[in-house]
Amino acid sequence: MKALHGKTILITGASSGIGHATALLFAAEGARVVLGARRGDRLEALSSRIRAEGGSATWLAGDVREEAYAQALVRHAEETYGPLDAAFNNAGTLGPLQPTPDVALHDWQDALDVNLTGAFLGAKHQIPSLLRNGNGGSLVFTSTVVGHTTGFPCTAAYAASKAGVIGLVHALATEFGPAGVRVNALLPGGTDTPMAREMNPDEAALGAVARLHALRRLARPEEIAAAALFLVSPASSFVTGSAMRVDGGVSVQRG
Ligand code: NAP
Repeated sequence: MKALHGKTILITGASSGIGHATALLFAAEGARVVLGARRGDRLEALSSRIRAEGGSATWLAGDVREEAYAQALVRHAEETYGPLDAAFNNAGTLGPLQPTPDVALHDWQDALDVNLTGAFLGAKHQIPSLLRNGNGGSLVFTSTVVGHTTGFPCTAAYAASKAGVIGLVHALATEFGPAGVRVNALLPGGTDTPMAREMNPDEAALGAVARLHALRRLARPEEIAAAALFLVSPASSFVTGSAMRVDGGVSVQRG
């Protein structure tokens, strides 16, 4: 039996990087995946690929900053497959990468809107669906080591918003644990996705980031997806309220 056989799982940020790799893995493990992001053409291409490979997928494009989208994505999942078993709230943005005195309030606010308010809005509308399902369920949020174990200059909005996600996870884990809902944060280290390449535009910069990790390389998105699979599957049935580092040792590396 596949690990996620017959499970309905919502994934945001599925058009690229970690979310894209996770959608492919969850579908290969038997989940019926509900894909979200703004770029519908990419979600359609991914859904078609999953169906061609024998899986089940549907999608709805929109912006995680908007509550109407968070609500519509859950409604779309329920109308297509029924109530949710799990959700991977993974959409995120780097926000402004500038010296903090130069950061415009609008850019700070926008990073918080995507990374933190988007996570809250996802949870707000996904939890009732998990409760309607009545099988407990699992919520996973993509945070990062940045702002948790590791500080980097010129990342104030990103670090603060992603650290906020860990606080959200702690609160939700205690609030919904009695109903059997598990809530965890996934903290990747540097992962080779378009986001990492936006932050480090050339190979020299990417190589320097890789050397910060004990394993001396970046993660492949599939390696983060494997950890997300653990957190939504019964294999992690006693794991909740955790901030799980999958970071190639960047948090413990010194020099
Ligand atoms: P990515 O390839 O740039 O993917 C980001 C995803 O988020 C895309 O699917 C994007 O889709 C979606 N997204 C961004 N803003 C959105 C919005 N307003 N509404 C809806 N969707 C939105 O980057 P990634 O590295 O896979 O990032 C995935 C997550 O991992 C993020 O939360 C990121 O912070 C986290 N993370 C990444 C790394 C790393 O080194 N790459 C390390 C630690 C944590 P659209 O553009 O189509 O909307």
